[in-house]
Amino acid sequence: MMPSGSNGPEEARPIRRGRQDGMPDRRESDSRKLLRRLRDTLASKAEGQARLDRIVALIAESMRTEVCSLYLFRDPETLELVATRGLRGEAVGKTRMRLGEGLVGRTARTGQPVNTGNAPAEKGFRYMPETGEEIYSSFLGVPVQRVGEKLGVLVVQSKEARQFSDDEVYGLEVVAMVLAEMSELGSMTAGGEGLRALHTRPMMIRGGSGQEGTAEGHVWLHEPRVVITNPVADDPERELDRIRNAVAQLRVSVDDLLGAEALDKDQRAVLEAYRMFANSRGWLKRMEDDILRGLSAEAAVEKEQSAARARLEQVPDAYLRDRLHDLDDLSNRLLRILTGQGQDTGAEMPPDPVLVARNIGPAELLDYGRRLRGVVLEEGSVGSHAAIVARALAIPLVIHADRITSEALNGDHILVDGDQGIVHLRPDETVAAAFRDKIAMQTEAQKRYAVLRALPAQATCGTTVSLHMNAGLMADLPSLEGSGAEGVGLFRTELQFLIRANVPRRDELVRLYARVMDAAKGRRVAFRTLDIGSDKVLPYMKPQDEPNPAMGWRAIRLGLERPGMLQMQLQALIRAAAGRTLTVMFPFVARMDEFMAARDHFDRVLARERAFGHDVPSRVEVGAMLETPSLAYAPRAFFEATDFISIGGNDLKQFFFAADRENERVRRRYDTLDPAFLAFIRHIVDRCGEAGTPLSFCGEDAGRPIEAVALAAIGLRTLSMRPASIGPVKALLRRVNLDEAREVIDAAVAQGEPTARDALTRYLAALP
Ligand code: PEP
Ligand code: MG
Repeated sequence: MMPSGSNGPEEARPIRRGRQDGMPDRRESDSRKLLRRLRDTLASKAEGQARLDRIVALIAESMRTEVCSLYLFRDPETLELVATRGLRGEAVGKTRMRLGEGLVGRTARTGQPVNTGNAPAEKGFRYMPETGEEIYSSFLGVPVQRVGEKLGVLVVQSKEARQFSDDEVYGLEVVAMVLAEMSELGSMTAGGEGLRALHTRPMMIRGGSGQEGTAEGHVWLHEPRVVITNPVADDPERELDRIRNAVAQLRVSVDDLLGAEALDKDQRAVLEAYRMFANSRGWLKRMEDDILRGLSAEAAVEKEQSAARARLEQVPDAYLRDRLHDLDDLSNRLLRILTGQGQDTGAEMPPDPVLVARNIGPAELLDYGRRLRGVVLEEGSVGSHAAIVARALAIPLVIHADRITSEALNGDHILVDGDQGIVHLRPDETVAAAFRDKIAMQTEAQKRYAVLRALPAQATCGTTVSLHMNAGLMADLPSLEGSGAEGVGLFRTELQFLIRANVPRRDELVRLYARVMDAAKGRRVAFRTLDIGSDKVLPYMKPQDEPNPAMGWRAIRLGLERPGMLQMQLQALIRAAAGRTLTVMFPFVARMDEFMAARDHFDRVLARERAFGHDVPSRVEVGAMLETPSLAYAPRAFFEATDFISIGGNDLKQFFFAADRENERVRRRYDTLDPAFLAFIRHIVDRCGEAGTPLSFCGEDAGRPIEAVALAAIGLRTLSMRPASIGPVKALLRRVNLDEAREVIDAAVAQGEPTARDALTRYLAALP
């Protein structure tokens, strides 16, 4: 479990600590004196620049170097010299370098100290003539950073050609830590644009789209940052006691977690790693050393956390990165113990909250519910459970928003563009105004769609397409009225299972399904039986170690081999439907015999219910999802045996083109309007037509207006989609002549176009 190599917590870093270097107490007390003087200076009323000048002078004196300079980030890519003792004063505000450029830039990029006795000979050295630094041979730069947040670089230089001792490096790192903390409190603001206090700059973060939609609001941090108000401590003995007690408490809490029953293999492995870190002597020892240098217990934890984060960015190995993440989490726990700051910081949720989190579980997201205007996650994925819930709640979601949790503060103004996967944090007024225009246009469009709500999706040629919605949670159902959907074409029953910590009981399911049918008020709801496995792993089920879960033991395959759960679910559906029509479909059927076996389970459960005198549905429809190409070539008897077929276009397309729907690299590579795919869908339309089997399409493509027109043009008469897509799809269908659209598609295919999209788009653009 213990990571080998240079990043483990036990690893003795090449820095000698105070007590081993021969001059322990003097160095430590010098360091403490310097930190106290820095603290007083930072707290003084002096003007920004005067204060910065005093800081560098103090450090140069204490380190006995001719030069001390502070560089801060002007923007995420550029560092600027903001104060110096020893270099030419004119260079302040002028000397700039890019991240990675020169030794200062290198220190900033790697987050690691650069220490050399012969700076000009160092690889990447860049000479800045305006500073007059050519006479200084030795150079020591340390990053000014706060839990992974790069703020700048602190440099000392001297004429004498010598490497700085490990002890000096360490001392300067401690000083840099205090500066980082103080800048967090806004004390380092010097007025100029480049020196604005942290967390005040506008930022745009480009992530990925998890759920479309736009929102404006204010940040609400799911896990608020711990605020440290005392980086420098006067009484090291007291701080040592505090850190030791806190670590002891942390160890107990990790042991308690490990003692809990019902941990699976992975949870246990993570906790074991936590325990190992929590018991690591190296980790505690480093923090004790930091305290002896004058840091408070909290600042010492953060200093180690910052160092771990900086290493995290450099580590390519996924396993080591995970372990460093563990260490990061553990540091957060320790900070919460030390500061007493729990989840509840007393802050008030803004009226227009945009939730910002590293990641969030589906149940937690549901707890926030529709109060949220938007959600921004640093991690997450398109298929994650949080994304599923955000979709159900129709909340715009941006995922992979790099560094958002360290950049955003509670209450920051934020714009979320879920369509483009972009976040604007603390936007300028011009950006905010443009964004508001976009929101206003969308609201306008929604109003237009609302007018269409009660009208049919009837094309100008007279053909009507029936539009249904996809759902999976109770939270979806209010959309049934609002969207104008005729029914629920796909109810993904597994979502209820995914958001809970344990298996729902049968009577709970009966109540839930009955509520869904009540809410549908007689409209058709097609309940799909559990589609678990693949990316949808239930929290309480042992995940199967499969090389390719999307093509593995999932959905109906699992249901048929472990029929207990399937039978329980069918029974719940039958009971819930008592006296009404019940529509059930089986996911991921690849062959006729799988459907027949599933149907057989259904028939037997139904017969048993009847025999026991329970109320049964007045009518049943049992269908199959067509999600694997093989099923399109099943015997005619299959099409005759099904009451209906629904094309699961997401899976069908991924298997048709062999392109993983979860893989960003390939998932958009193949067009739904590719002639081969269209021909394949036509084949399915024909087969259902021959057997007289009703056919629908319920993948994401059904909700994209151009795709929806193409599907309708080649013969689909029922489409099921996200509720928010019904308006745009209906609005377009009502303007289209489907016979013409089919001719356009046929002509493009006949001409050998790689996709019919361009031709169809041109045709649609020219519509009156
Ligand atoms: C599909 O595959 O198209 C489908 C509707 O099912 P899911 O997205 O839940 O796999
Ligand atoms: Mg599917």
